[in-house]
Amino acid sequence: MFVVMAATASEADVLGVKSAILAEGLTPFEHSRPERTAIAVIGEMGGRRAALMDRLAALSGVERVTPINRPFKLTSREFHPESTVVRVLDAVVGDGGLTVMAGPCSVESRDQLFETAEGVAAAGATILRGGAFKPRTSPYSFQGLGVEALRYLAEARDRAGLPVVTEVMEPSQVDIVAEYADILQIGTRNMQNYSLLTAVGRVARPVMLKRGYGATIEEWLMAAEYIVSSGNPNVILCERGIRTFETYTRNTMDLTAVPLLHGLTHLPIIVDPSHATGKRALVQPMALAGVGAGADGIMVEVHPRPDDALSDAEQQLDLPMFRSLMAVMLPLHAELRRLRDGVEATAPSTVAQRSRSALRAAGSR
Ligand code: PEP
Ligand code: MN
Repeated sequence: MFVVMAATASEADVLGVKSAILAEGLTPFEHSRPERTAIAVIGEMGGRRAALMDRLAALSGVERVTPINRPFKLTSREFHPESTVVRVLDAVVGDGGLTVMAGPCSVESRDQLFETAEGVAAAGATILRGGAFKPRTSPYSFQGLGVEALRYLAEARDRAGLPVVTEVMEPSQVDIVAEYADILQIGTRNMQNYSLLTAVGRVARPVMLKRGYGATIEEWLMAAEYIVSSGNPNVILCERGIRTFETYTRNTMDLTAVPLLHGLTHLPIIVDPSHATGKRALVQPMALAGVGAGADGIMVEVHPRPDDALSDAEQQLDLPMFRSLMAVMLPLHAELRRLRDGVEATAPSTVAQRSRSALRAAGSR
């Protein structure tokens, strides 16, 4: 449930509501909206829910108490109707622009990373990616350069002027990765590693949470809820394909997740056609499809010589392929945005109306 304060409520009223929530052994989460403050009540309520709603509704300055009928609370559109915009250095995710994260699957050497970083930056990428700690299916495969790669990433950020995103695989790595990287990535295999989610929830770095390859959308949002409820509101979701019976592709890219999630949650969502398809030739069409579905951004693996790559050789684009992708994708995004803005100008346009219609589109589950 969340408590909506009246427009005339004082700071003392807000404090009174928070103290009442704390006195119940529950946690208040404040969200100051432009017109009024809302306070989510988080924790196990058991049988006292109805009585508690009545008690909170009677407090000074409270306009109403609204239940959140979904298991995810802080990440839900009901509680937080405005879309979350994540800002990191000069990059902005979720403001209607197109974020393009590009770079090698693994950082293999200083030269390989710098060559890629300069190439993708020149082509218009907004964030540099590169794996330092690699989650590999085989223990005999290249496991990443670890801290050495983090140092190269930090240098590449300064040279290319792009923030960097890299994966963190366990709680003990969070501090060192946060020291060098601008965005912490949680990979598909760790989406439900709750101690890791809680650990990244406590650092002042945005988190990109990839969808577990066997996770439902609800499980994915519950994983995001762990991060946000641990204190970190800057979460970016990344659809990277789920495992199905199909074997021609590495995974099946679930593009329905994009418009569905825009209705269910305020968090930005980007798509990763590289891991979703596993095949270089499929990356451009599926990146364009992601833009068409309304994604806030794309993550693409790029390597100067993909055939020599130490990981994911079959799916990485070379720099000319990346430039061709950008040459189509950026104008496509701009044109779609222009068309959508045109429709919105003649249709219901307040944030509340838009989020209500998005919620309807996402169904009542
Ligand atoms: C990656 O992006 O480097 C990666 C390993 O992706 P995923 O966790 O989606 O497999
Ligand atoms: Mn990869």
